[in-house]
Amino acid sequence: MIKTLTYFIAIFFIIGCKNEEKSSSEINNASKNPQKTEKNFGIVIHGGAGTILKENMSDSLESAYREKLKEAISAGYKILENGGTSLDAVTHTINIMEDSPLFNSGKGAVFTHEGRNELDASIMDGKTMNAGAIAGVRHIKNPIDLARDVMQNSEHVMLYGEGAEEFAKGLGYKMMDTSYFYTKNRYESLQKVLAKEKVQNEKKVSFEDPFIKNSKFGTVGCAALDKHGNLAAGTSTGGMTNKRWNRIGDAPIIGAGTYANNATCAVSSTGWGEYFIRAVVAYDISALMEYKGMTLQEAASEVIQKKVPALGGDGGIVAIDKDGNVAMEFNTSGMYRATMNSKGELTIGIYKEVD
Ligand code: ASP
Repeated sequence: MIKTLTYFIAIFFIIGCKNEEKSSSEINNASKNPQKTEKNFGIVIHGGAGTILKENMSDSLESAYREKLKEAISAGYKILENGGTSLDAVTHTINIMEDSPLFNSGKGAVFTHEGRNELDASIMDGKTMNAGAIAGVRHIKNPIDLARDVMQNSEHVMLYGEGAEEFAKGLGYKMMDTSYFYTKNRYESLQKVLAKEKVQNEKKVSFEDPFIKNSKFGTVGCAALDKHGNLAAGTSTGGMTNKRWNRIGDAPIIGAGTYANNATCAVSSTGWGEYFIRAVVAYDISALMEYKGMTLQEAASEVIQKKVPALGGDGGIVAIDKDGNVAMEFNTSGMYRATMNSKGELTIGIYKEVD
């Protein structure tokens, strides 16, 4: 009896050791190949599309853009790398660009015909497909934060003007003096357009005019996929120089300027907003993936290289899909852009050619 018992105990001991061996070798394999056990993630940003030519750009301005794009995307990347959400990465990355006078969003926003700054922004969560947007605000330092608060702390999707600012005050936002948004460059761009309108006997200068196109747009946007498989996108802008009558572009319009759906992709647009609204650019890219089975790159080229130019518009998008594939598509001479993948590889571009 004792012999039989000893025999069984020995057998259980051997089986136990084998199982332990197996699980520790699995752990070893996993730590050698962290990519295999960890979900793909990534981030992509733009700082506006337009007539951006190397011959018009000084070396120092170009490196200032590159530095700021790198700073912004690295901050968002860090959030994702540490397991943070795509919504946090998008918001924080956009905040950095909103605070920089280089871009047409937050500080550095373009001027309206009346010499004001009116800011628009939107954000969308691909997991819940909830969204928030604000338009025409004049005292909010970081419009993307307020768009996010509309999404998370109101029953609405879009708030406009004074009402949006009342909502912000209720949440404790500081109201900025309008002088905060002033930059000499942007103010001079408006003065050039106004001078031209005078020469033309007050005839409105078209958004197609080189004065406006050369002010290089400068809207900012971001799309991200986090380690939890959730997509998000956001866009923030001052709109277009010399806009009038409380004109609102595509940036705060969900489906045109911003869209995110965990089943497909997250997209942020930049360009001539009237056309991006009519082509429902961001949603169209997602829909082509969802209903036609296109890849992100195919869908982005279809919309940006065919649909938008067929209407007469120009601009671009950045987007990331649910597997971490990225598209940075534009039909203008340049688009400030950058992307980082889950390996931490960084790509920065400004002009058409890969640089
Ligand atoms: N899409 C923006 C607007 O139309 C401008 C831009 O992206 O450059 O307001």
